[in-house]
Amino acid sequence: MHSLPKLPTACCRKFFVSFRKIARVAMRLPDGWPPRTLGTLRRQVLAWFDANQRSLPWRENRDPYRVWLSEVMLQQTTVAAVVPYFQRFLKTFPTLRDLAAADEQEVLKLWEGLGYYRRARHLHAAAKRIIADHGGKFPADATAVADLPGVGRYILGAVLSQAFEQKFPIVEANSLRVLARLFGYRNDPREGEGRVWVWEAATAVLPEKRIGDFNQAVMELGALVCTPTSPKCPSCPWAKSCIANRDSLQTLIPPPKKPPVIVACREIAVVIRHREKVLVCRRSPDAKRWANLWEFPHADWPAEELFEDAVGRIAEELTGVAVSPGRELLTIQHGVTRFAITMTAAEAQRQSGQFRSPFYSEGRWVSPGELKDYPTSTPQRKLFLEVSRPQQRLF
Ligand code: SF4
Repeated sequence: MHSLPKLPTACCRKFFVSFRKIARVAMRLPDGWPPRTLGTLRRQVLAWFDANQRSLPWRENRDPYRVWLSEVMLQQTTVAAVVPYFQRFLKTFPTLRDLAAADEQEVLKLWEGLGYYRRARHLHAAAKRIIADHGGKFPADATAVADLPGVGRYILGAVLSQAFEQKFPIVEANSLRVLARLFGYRNDPREGEGRVWVWEAATAVLPEKRIGDFNQAVMELGALVCTPTSPKCPSCPWAKSCIANRDSLQTLIPPPKKPPVIVACREIAVVIRHREKVLVCRRSPDAKRWANLWEFPHADWPAEELFEDAVGRIAEELTGVAVSPGRELLTIQHGVTRFAITMTAAEAQRQSGQFRSPFYSEGRWVSPGELKDYPTSTPQRKLFLEVSRPQQRLF
């Protein structure tokens, strides 16, 4: 058994509670591992990282703004998807001050397609907070960082370790898998005591120097070598120490996730036309999903309801505008969490009424050509494109 590294002194309450939980479950080195093993593991993975890390734009320097931006983008998203977004974002907002001064709609527009839009709104709100409370300088103090909108334990550790070389662990999908296999942890490290264990393991393995590199090295190892299926153990710097490799447990560690129960549902979206314009609506700032993004009004379409009735009902309930239903435009399949949604879009002509909505914060009559300027979700972008096509615009 070995003692845990010293906890950071300037931790805010929410993380301090988590660290106390961790401290209660002292981590045990696997049987047969001499006490100096951790030092060897650190050296091995850092040497591997030096030789094998991918050249990624956010690795060019350790500027806290760049580290923070890349880590927020990388949550729930692949590296390949993030690279062009990161480059476009930095080109538009080269500094934290530029981001703070931007309009939120501009930020959301740049984020369009990356998903989890709350991250973009938090990023923007945090940039404003840093300008207001820290003179525009990204804080190096854990309490101040933890207090920023959208900062959880992962972002805190990623920024403080990579930008400021502070001794903070990180756990995400890659490092979780690598650590569970390395130590031969058989329970689920994503839940309950397993989550406590994995944060403790990530804390225990941290070196005294090159902390940011070490955290990145473990993630990179998970991305390139210790992959979910078919890990390349013969090329792994930890192959000789790894318990999963020794006992051929790679497919059992971590235990496979239970697949979610997929629920099929269907919706109708209504493109309400009036003269040469269409009605687009902005979701409210506190909407659970796609807050502040624009869209054509859409809602569930129960099996027993006729298509034309549903089009009229949805338009009136969501926008206050009475319509006469028109033709179907297109059908879009998309997934949201565990829901497999079939969304049928229909045209409708405004008959009477002004925009008034219990659901949307704003409605605007815009020409189809203007739709490209409005930030929206991926399925609605397909509909925006369809409505903006020249033949549609003549209809
Ligand atoms: S030896 Fe294999 S299972 Fe173990 S950490 Fe390396 S790649 Fe993963």
